[in-house]
Amino acid sequence: MIWDDVRGRADQVEMFRRTIRRGRLASAYLFLGPEGTGKNLFAQRLAQCLFCTTIADEQLDACGTCSGCRQIQAGSHPDFLRIACPEGKREIPIELFVGSREARGREGLCHDLSIRPMASHRRIAVIDGADLMNEESANALLKTLEEPPSYALMILIAANPDSLLSTIRSRCQAVRFPALDLADVADLLIAQGMVSDPSEAAAVASLSDGSLATAAQLLDPQLRQLRDRLYAGLAAERFASVPLAKQVLAGIEEIGGDASTQRRHAQWTLRFGMEFYRQVLRRLSEPGQPADASMIPQAQQLASRLDAGSAADAELIMELFDRMAAAGDLIERMTPVPLCLEGLFDDLGRIQRQRRPVRG
Ligand SMILES: [Zn+2]
Repeated sequence: MIWDDVRGRADQVEMFRRTIRRGRLASAYLFLGPEGTGKNLFAQRLAQCLFCTTIADEQLDACGTCSGCRQIQAGSHPDFLRIACPEGKREIPIELFVGSREARGREGLCHDLSIRPMASHRRIAVIDGADLMNEESANALLKTLEEPPSYALMILIAANPDSLLSTIRSRCQAVRFPALDLADVADLLIAQGMVSDPSEAAAVASLSDGSLATAAQLLDPQLRQLRDRLYAGLAAERFASVPLAKQVLAGIEEIGGDASTQRRHAQWTLRFGMEFYRQVLRRLSEPGQPADASMIPQAQQLASRLDAGSAADAELIMELFDRMAAAGDLIERMTPVPLCLEGLFDDLGRIQRQRRPVRG
């Protein structure tokens, strides 16, 4: 089955299969869900099933070898149209819908959709990042959505439905793509060769929010280096606020990017820190349990220096966790990153000194 490697989407596959069997395929769908949850892959597989010349549409499968399948896989099917927000741009320009000023109405997705199919009985158009259409682009597409050619199937893909005009939304059937199961994210990381070690895959997946795109960001080598510096600092027998703050800030600086990118990396750092303390706490509450694959070794080290049965130690870790979470709120509220992190590490040191020293 062509859907075998598409994780967690059996319901959506079944919905389309039933709809096609009943002859009720709509002319426009809106795939909604966070980035990295397989919406594009699903749209491509759906198109392949509908363009496969050897398997009937209502079976919603594809042979993988006919000319239709091969053309979709090669990205060269004449009836498959796809546009997306150009690299580095914040909006999908109007030209992609209706052509350049000189060729207005004679080029672009809306024009191409008006041409009869060449190699099949449909034309399928995918608009990736439909939430990045500006008003002009949206209005151009709206005309096609209002009077679609009988052979047209339009798939709009959006992570942020609030950015879509309500007139666009109301003309599409919504299909939801919720976050993936963390186990599926871990499997996909391995299946796609992004990670080879299953415990590393589980650890990355646990922070991914069920998004393969987020997991891929987490695999950035510099971000991992930053994470490891943080873990080492948090687990150190003598917690050293000032050097740790310096190291983490330098790490964020080294990864680079604009202010909002640095803010995102600071946010990641805090989430790593929360995960670290969460694991210490879990270790303290279940001392007899064997460490699972996604356990952070440095968290285990810190937990082993604490008393598993001690309420005071559990409270200490909870207090550290809460302080880490509060820093995340500050970053969210646009507090400058250095101010936020220096204050955080200072407080983490103070809390540990006040409660009682973490024994070596
Ligand atoms: Zn085929």
